[in-house]
Amino acid sequence: MGFFVGFNCDSCKYQEESIGVGHGKNPTPYLALFRCGRCKTIGSTWLQDGGVPRCSLCYDEAVTILPDDTRRVDCPKCGKPARIAVREGSWE
Ligand SMILES: [Zn+2]
Ligand SMILES: [Zn+2]
Repeated sequence: MGFFVGFNCDSCKYQEESIGVGHGKNPTPYLALFRCGRCKTIGSTWLQDGGVPRCSLCYDEAVTILPDDTRRVDCPKCGKPARIAVREGSWE
């Protein structure tokens, strides 16, 4: 079952309230957390078998896929350490 995370940077106040990650009834496709260096966002994107992950906003291929259990990540906007927290709720 998929879940939601939120991203929060105390330094520049960039935040993403609710990012869906994980997978539904089937193990693939898989919604993975990413950090995009081009448009400087944190988000999630669908990983297909054999497919290249792309930023869901700018479609850049040079995204960094983050493990689901990532709790600390450098803010894509200001580069300072920031937090990822699990939100309530789930999806299928
Ligand atoms: Zn920041
Ligand atoms: Zn991007």
